[in-house]
Amino acid sequence: MSRRVAVVGAGLAGVATAYELAALGLKVQVFERGGSVAEQASFASSALLSPFLPDFADAASPAPLAWRWRRWRAGRRGGDAASSLPALSQLSLARTAELRRSLGLDDEAADGLLVALTDARRIAAAEAQLEAWKGLGLQLELLDAEQARRREPGLNNDAPLAGALALTHGGTGNARLFAQQLRHQAQRLGAGFRFHTTVRAIAADGAGLTLRHEYTPPLEAPTRAQGGEREAGDTVPQSLGPQDERFDAVVLCNGLDAAGLLGHGLKLAARHETSVTAPLRLLEAHPDLGPKAGWIDPTLGLAVARIGQRVRVTGGLAVTDARAKVNADFEALHRGLQHWFPGSVLHQQVQQGQSRRALPADGLPLLGASAKPGVWLNVSPGGSGWGLACGSAQVLAQRIAGLTPALDITALGPERLT
Ligand SMILES: Cc1cc2nc3c(=O)[nH]c(=O)nc-3n(C[C@H](O)[C@H](O)[C@H](O)COP(=O)(O)OP(=O)(O)OC[C@H]3O[C@@H](n4cnc5c(N)ncnc54)[C@H](O)[C@@H]3O)c2cc1C
Repeated sequence: MSRRVAVVGAGLAGVATAYELAALGLKVQVFERGGSVAEQASFASSALLSPFLPDFADAASPAPLAWRWRRWRAGRRGGDAASSLPALSQLSLARTAELRRSLGLDDEAADGLLVALTDARRIAAAEAQLEAWKGLGLQLELLDAEQARRREPGLNNDAPLAGALALTHGGTGNARLFAQQLRHQAQRLGAGFRFHTTVRAIAADGAGLTLRHEYTPPLEAPTRAQGGEREAGDTVPQSLGPQDERFDAVVLCNGLDAAGLLGHGLKLAARHETSVTAPLRLLEAHPDLGPKAGWIDPTLGLAVARIGQRVRVTGGLAVTDARAKVNADFEALHRGLQHWFPGSVLHQQVQQGQSRRALPADGLPLLGASAKPGVWLNVSPGGSGWGLACGSAQVLAQRIAGLTPALDITALGPERLT
């Protein structure tokens, strides 16, 4: 009889994990608190599918002092984990490309990812690191300003630019669409998805795991008692209260909430980001308006991406403790977009969003077995969760299935931070 595995959370990490487990023949049940896949951190990501690159923006992010101390201390211990990341990132991008191709996934993908180098100092800094980055297996190219503008002809000619770093194999896409399509593929392989269901607790005994879950009413459907009206004939599932179900293994893919379910001293910070998505202005006389693919500006701390006929700009990065809130500055994103790609979007149907994702103390993924027997973690780190999702899921699923993984991820295990 095949092993039963529960996956908690149906963001990019959970959906990819469910797919890979089901593809290996395991019996998979996904539990998701929300009403669909990719509703939280995976909802309006920067849309960049990027190879691992030293995170320019993170270094400049405003983080509380206690957190900076924890990050510094974790960084000193986490050398091995950091060195696993370039290979995991490459495996992951290759797996994403393979899934897109073999499953016919269409997520509005575009090839190309440039990092703006706005002055001579940044060019010199990039030049100094180029060989080290190539040594990690990264394929990149240093472009002068003219070459960069040729690749992104919609760039503002008046915006100062000294050059750009072109990340080969990088690009953009619609992460939510990707997750939705991969979910259907996982279902075709037999994985079950239970929405509006929150996992409350996981108890381990010698014979396996008991997972306690509970129906969670949709937030957006207020009851009459709360002043909401429902159509006559609506059926509202009656809450049965907490239910217990047995599994052989559980994979926590629930981001910031993983620490609570694990029930011991795992500390996660929250990385906040703000996004604005607007329709691209389509003008026959100006066919080059807007970005062709992905554009990162570490100086302004923002990313601009083409997603089909829309443009998304993200930024306003801040790191806080898990429950804190930050104020979103959408105007700064509009200004940044206007700075690089002026007049490129329509100002109707603009969507603004703010999301948080988990940030382990050393900024690296938590991938592997937890101290609780049978409970595994797949918590993607701050800025590159989509870029790492498919490879992380594949390697973790191989480990859970008892196979030799395509990559040794031992160093990324959660015990390094506890
Ligand atoms: C603004 C922004 C921009 C980003 N840009 C990029 C980018 O350009 N490139 C990139 O690679 N990555 C990017 N990321 C990161 C990437 O989007 C995330 O790392 C990734 O989406 C995280 O996916 P996840 O599945 O781990 O988390 P989530 O998508 O947050 O999914 C976790 C799910 O778990 C559910 N859940 C939580 N607790 C429970 C429970 N107890 N029971 C049941 N369900 C539960 C939640 O409802 C949620 O749906 C960005 C993230 C943000 C927020």
